[in-house]
Amino acid sequence: MTSEELFREDATLLQCTATVLAVDEAGVVLDRTVFYPLSGGQAGDTGTLTTAGGAVLAIADTRKHKAHPGAIAHVPAAGADLSAFTPGTTVHAQVNAARRLAHRRFHTATHLLCALVPHPVDGCSITETYARLDFHTAEPLDKETLTAGIARLVAGAHPVSHRWISEAELDANPQLVRSMSVQPPRGLGRIRVLDIAGVDLQPCGGTHVGNTAEVGAVIVTKIEKKSAMTRRVVLGFAEPPPAPPRDQASSHGTGSAGP
Ligand SMILES: [Zn+2]
Repeated sequence: MTSEELFREDATLLQCTATVLAVDEAGVVLDRTVFYPLSGGQAGDTGTLTTAGGAVLAIADTRKHKAHPGAIAHVPAAGADLSAFTPGTTVHAQVNAARRLAHRRFHTATHLLCALVPHPVDGCSITETYARLDFHTAEPLDKETLTAGIARLVAGAHPVSHRWISEAELDANPQLVRSMSVQPPRGLGRIRVLDIAGVDLQPCGGTHVGNTAEVGAVIVTKIEKKSAMTRRVVLGFAEPPPAPPRDQASSHGTGSAGP
């Protein structure tokens, strides 16, 4: 039981049709999916699965299936009704677009950070609201310098692309592996590498933007000394979060009448 990973080739693809292969305690397994499972520090996608009959299943998270390597489990929201999602059912899978875009922008931004900081990475987390990268070093890092460095690489509009290389090719170029905690998966015969033209090249299975310009206004919000040999860099979006919907804002009633 395996799931075709459509997100590996096209991170902009947000929907697909698929067939339910299994439903178990891990979640709903499809034959193909646009949902990215938690891995490489990047959080899993959320979204919906909808049957032709109109039954909608909210997906709260996506994970690699522990019992079935190669299968992806779509984790239903708590209390969800799974009765319409039996094996063989055709579904429309739809990823939460705003969350995916945040993951893509932050993930590429963490690779820009790797290009700016010449130390090994020993931890990484990419979420919808922030990203953090732990560098194995005793040297202090400067918030303003790194924010300016990211802005320069974003303004440089460097193309971002992926390709697949053989394990032999990776073995011949061990410097490609930047992360101490996450080694690229072996045994599949090929390894995905993420290339930011002229800036950074490393094994990565994550979803990225197509050009560093799309990273937009990402800044270093915090640098923490987690241990004697760990400096944590936290990234955030510089722009304010979107304003609440108009009806919600006005329902609080400020008492002011008219303009
Ligand atoms: Zn990556």
